[in-house]
Amino acid sequence: MSAYGSVTDRLARNSYVLDEAECHIEVNQEIARSTGTGKLLVRVCPAQVYGEAPDGTISVNYAACLECGTCLAVAAPGALTWHYPRGGFGIAYREG
Ligand code: SF4
Repeated sequence: MSAYGSVTDRLARNSYVLDEAECHIEVNQEIARSTGTGKLLVRVCPAQVYGEAPDGTISVNYAACLECGTCLAVAAPGALTWHYPRGGFGIAYREG
């Protein structure tokens, strides 16, 4: 752990305004499965937004998204639709 605390401690300092009417992340299950993108999403997301069910279906807990863009960097074309949350929604970073 660093002098700034664990990653979990630091993530707990964030606050979120959840857009319950619109999810800003959508996974194309077929492409995600056939390209291996689903497993990559689960592995790389620092906020554990993605989960994989036993049948390979990828779940999305978009409320926890840090808007870091890492998932976009690993997703195969067509596997992921991602955009920033609408204005006023999403994460607010805090210091300290
Ligand atoms: S933008 Fe970052 S935090 Fe959000 S789902 Fe993608 S990898 Fe996870």
